[in-house]
Amino acid sequence: MNPDVVIVGAGPAGSATAILLAERGFTVMLLDKAAFPRPKICGEYLSPEASRILDRLGVLKDVDAAGAQPLSGIRIIAPDGTRLDGAYPTAGPWRAYRDHALAVPREILDALLLERARSLPVTVAERQRVTGLLVEGDRVVGLRAEDPEGRSYEVRSRLLVGADGRGSIVARALGLLRPHRLRRMALVQHVGGLAGFDGRGEIYVDPPDYAILNPVAPDRVNLGLVVPLRHAVAFRGRMEMFFHARLKQLRHLSPRLEGMRPVGRLRVLGPLAYRVDEPRHAGVALVGDAAGVFDPFTGEGLYTALRSAELLAETAHAALRGGQVSAEALAPYWRARRRAFAAKERVTRVLQWVIARRRLATLTAHVLVRRPALLGTLMGVLGDFVPPGALLRPSLLRRNRSCPGSAGR
Ligand SMILES: Cc1cc2nc3c(=O)[nH]c(=O)nc-3n(C[C@H](O)[C@H](O)[C@H](O)COP(=O)(O)OP(=O)(O)OC[C@H]3O[C@@H](n4cnc5c(N)ncnc54)[C@H](O)[C@@H]3O)c2cc1C
Repeated sequence: MNPDVVIVGAGPAGSATAILLAERGFTVMLLDKAAFPRPKICGEYLSPEASRILDRLGVLKDVDAAGAQPLSGIRIIAPDGTRLDGAYPTAGPWRAYRDHALAVPREILDALLLERARSLPVTVAERQRVTGLLVEGDRVVGLRAEDPEGRSYEVRSRLLVGADGRGSIVARALGLLRPHRLRRMALVQHVGGLAGFDGRGEIYVDPPDYAILNPVAPDRVNLGLVVPLRHAVAFRGRMEMFFHARLKQLRHLSPRLEGMRPVGRLRVLGPLAYRVDEPRHAGVALVGDAAGVFDPFTGEGLYTALRSAELLAETAHAALRGGQVSAEALAPYWRARRRAFAAKERVTRVLQWVIARRRLATLTAHVLVRRPALLGTLMGVLGDFVPPGALLRPSLLRRNRSCPGSAGR
């Protein structure tokens, strides 16, 4: 029998959508080309507000039990070595679901979400590659997929959800993918042999690069380096060499990496950012990275994936119950996305602009040193629980010492 909803991609966005729609009584089929647990290039940081959604999905306790590391904040090291110890605010008008973020390997997080989906009436099909869409007029009515033996088959459904990450086949088949002018590349490696994190991630800003250290397990750190794509092109096929040489060039990071030993393989991805237009077809929606990606500096990809699943579940529920999955019936989802993410995207764009410029990045760090309340509010915005508009409060521009977070050199 055809499911009500077929979801392409069983990453966080796809599994979360499957869980929320199955809980509402819809029949759901979830397809992924990979077998889980599968690797995924990522900084593996989950903002404090993401915990609320993980709890709602019924996996937060399992994520904690699997060894997720609590992070009370982020240490940012500016180009001149100025250190900002940003902490998530625990007082004031906005409270996070929890007072800390989480660092957790994607193999663990994604497998737990998929397990939760599997415990509900969701048909999970791994190692199934979606190869195209079934389109009738202005309506998407299903998909074509291939099993591991290369046999092709079709699945029809009332609603098709593209949760198939970057370069989404669903977005591509509908002609919705657009390049982005921000052209950066990420190189990510798990490493051991580093200590002294005190429950914080670390970001080293050294334009045009930045690097992030995220302690994902007691002796395991996720080390990510982001560089302009054009700087890496000449090193095609020699990325290990490029990675290590480039790390040495980051003046304040290089001594921090003494004693580091690589664990597993280096993963490389670029360009990172791309845009996706809203679908004009009926019967289709996009969630998570399939709906567009900017840059991992502010670490909201997972929160956005989970939150967009929540928003879609609300709209899809109403549309499916009302018997209408027209583009108009699904439009409230896109409006809700804009309301939820547009302001943070603007903050992210400004931060990207700042961290790409040495003098501006240093100057900004000096301003934040003198205004701890502003730094605390920025942490809350990055943690997805303080509305970005709060950064414009005039009181924040005064110097004060009332907020968590300290700084020095
Ligand atoms: C370098 C880097 C660092 C990052 N760091 C962070 C961070 O620290 N914190 C954070 O919150 N976010 C981070 N992100 C972003 C985050 O990884 C993504 O936002 C998140 O994975 C999106 O989840 P998703 O479910 O939309 O997509 P994915 O996790 O990519 O899942 C998509 C799934 O679709 C499947 N699929 C794809 N094509 C097909 C097909 N044709 N048929 C069937 N299945 C298919 C794939 O196998 C995959 O399992 C980072 C991203 C990068 C690149």
